[in-house]
Amino acid sequence: MNFQMTSRIKKLPPYLFVELDRKKQEALKKGVDVIDLGIGDPDLPTPDFIVNRMIEAVKNPKNHRYPSSEGSIEFRTAAANWCKRRFGLDLDPGSQVCCIIGSKEAIAHFPLAFVQDEDIVLVPTPGYPVYHIGTLFCGGITYYMPLYEKNSFLPDLDAIPEDVAQKARIMWLNYPNNPTAACASKEFFEKVVDFAKTYDVIICHDAAYSEMTYDGYVAPSFLETSGAMDVGIEFHSLSKTYNMTGWRIGFAIGNPELVAALKKVKSNVDSGQFEAIQEAGIAALESDGSFIEEMKRIYTGRRDCLVKGLKEIGLSTNSPKATFYVWFKVPEGKSSSEFCGELLDKAGIVCTPGNGFGEPGEGYARMALTVPEERLKEAIERLKGVL
Ligand SMILES: *Cc1c(COP(=O)(O)O)cnc(C)c1O
Repeated sequence: MNFQMTSRIKKLPPYLFVELDRKKQEALKKGVDVIDLGIGDPDLPTPDFIVNRMIEAVKNPKNHRYPSSEGSIEFRTAAANWCKRRFGLDLDPGSQVCCIIGSKEAIAHFPLAFVQDEDIVLVPTPGYPVYHIGTLFCGGITYYMPLYEKNSFLPDLDAIPEDVAQKARIMWLNYPNNPTAACASKEFFEKVVDFAKTYDVIICHDAAYSEMTYDGYVAPSFLETSGAMDVGIEFHSLSKTYNMTGWRIGFAIGNPELVAALKKVKSNVDSGQFEAIQEAGIAALESDGSFIEEMKRIYTGRRDCLVKGLKEIGLSTNSPKATFYVWFKVPEGKSSSEFCGELLDKAGIVCTPGNGFGEPGEGYARMALTVPEERLKEAIERLKGVL
């Protein structure tokens, strides 16, 4: 047999962390005590109140049958109520909420409803890779919007050429942002709504880090912006907020036509998330905010420890007010990959080279606050010896 893969598969970008992964495995094999600050996956467990709800829900035969692909009305209502409490949004659980199998799933599938034949999709770079991959799988063309520090890591909408804006179907945004940890102001979102209405562009906002915020900062929903409900859909995830990355659950909210389109795609490719997991999700969404406050306290401590340490060793970084990432400039004269390679070789520390998220990330690196404070202190001590 001659298995011919499609051009969409052949066009997949090379996985830029291959070399770093290989080095990490090598170090582990040699017995190096590796400190892994590379992955954006919470190290702490899902809280007991969610796990216990799941245990009960698993036992209920009602949950053993096919779920509805859009999610149970109970889950969608819990999500809508959460959005009301959190953002003041008035959402109809019937038409404006869809349960998703983690936001990655929905981010990859949503464009199937709106992108084809070389339509343009506006994608931030550096950024989460799935925005581009989803575009590619639909036969669309990615137009990258660079995120520069001088623009506070917001895309410069005025820099998007007129003909590109005319052909664009979707714009992806993600604030609080991975990997830069930047946050967007309500004023920026207002400009985005104007842009969307001028050029008929759907705004897809990835809000995976909306609850991971510090120092009293509260992240807005894009949909709070006046006019946003006419142009946008927002993807929420329970993964980072409730330490539930393995469970695969989130929800999409927004314009009813856009939510209906997502449901249409999903009902044809999946049969929804296990209803026991949806029940556990309800427990998370209906809980008081004390678990989230506790997580914020932990991440704030880690952040302060790492940022202080990085400054002590002469690396320049701002203290992020959201996400669990610290994004910083690598030392002058080194590329991101060289710097991260060196960190692993000399100090047994894994961190992610910024260019892995897109070319404008060159010259930066990302560390995730997903290890305990003692390990972060240990990492800084090791760095003092080698930098
Ligand atoms: C982690 C992450 C997601 C994916 O979350 P899931 O809901 O677990 O699929 C989406 N977007 C960004 C920017 C992320 O960092």
